[in-house]
Amino acid sequence: MAINTVVALSIDAYENKRVGASRSAIDGLKREAYSYKSGGHDEADKTALDSTTCVICMEKFEAGTLVTYMPCTHIFHEYCLIPWLQENHSCPLCRFEIQSCS
Ligand SMILES: [Zn+2]
Ligand SMILES: [Zn+2]
Repeated sequence: MAINTVVALSIDAYENKRVGASRSAIDGLKREAYSYKSGGHDEADKTALDSTTCVICMEKFEAGTLVTYMPCTHIFHEYCLIPWLQENHSCPLCRFEIQSCS
């Protein structure tokens, strides 16, 4: 049956029951246009290495791109993080959990 094929194909991605972040948790995240300062280059920032690349799409941040800050200080493209948070309620990098909608 066609529908079983679809389920089988998507089962890997949904192996663990996923719960998205709550709307208010997503709305509460800080958003900012990325600048080289955001990457922590001006400070001795332990997250500086992680903060130059979005681990969701593996693209480097470009200045002026809208990025979203997780409470753990990791940053991601807004257009990458929002879809992620609709299915997960943790940081893609360190699994820091934010409020879920369950
Ligand atoms: Zn990205
Ligand atoms: Zn994190």
